[in-house]
Amino acid sequence: MIIASISHYFIGLNFFEYFIIILGAFASDFDVLFVKYARDHNHRMLITHSIIPSVIVIILGVIFNWHALILCGICLFIHVFIDTFDWGTNLLYFPKKLVGLKFLITKDEFENLDKYLAQYKQNESFFDFKYYNCKTCLAIEGILFLLMILFSVINALEYIIIVPLYFIGLFFHLSLHFKLKKIEVK
Ligand SMILES: [Zn+2]
Repeated sequence: MIIASISHYFIGLNFFEYFIIILGAFASDFDVLFVKYARDHNHRMLITHSIIPSVIVIILGVIFNWHALILCGICLFIHVFIDTFDWGTNLLYFPKKLVGLKFLITKDEFENLDKYLAQYKQNESFFDFKYYNCKTCLAIEGILFLLMILFSVINALEYIIIVPLYFIGLFFHLSLHFKLKKIEVK
């Protein structure tokens, strides 16, 4: 929304263009629907979490000379790039390897993952709790939310109706978090 709003200020986007830029930022995560085909059942090993879709979309944007599509491709890239920081992602696809700084997981946890996952009733709890216990992650979430609102109010107030999408995503993540919390304390 920050990128779409700033772009709208400079080049003037219609609502569909504004929307596809935002869609680019989270489209990759719909690959959770295909998680059963992924190595280690990790959706970040799928091609959708590599650099490939963003390169294709950017090339198409250049061919059709359509700025919104180029920006959509940039948002696709930013998503997978940011994913390299917390758990890593299969950025280059063909090496079939999670790359990145993987701030949320220690070397020991990464190498002996099964041992750590076994401490929980649900495997997802390990990842979920690590994220929600990370104060830096939550602070970044809060700051980005405020910037998102600020930039859309200043630059694209007419498209602010898209904000409920954010809350749908937030509700989905928080309800999963509280469900896992309930399962683990039982
Ligand atoms: Zn992702």
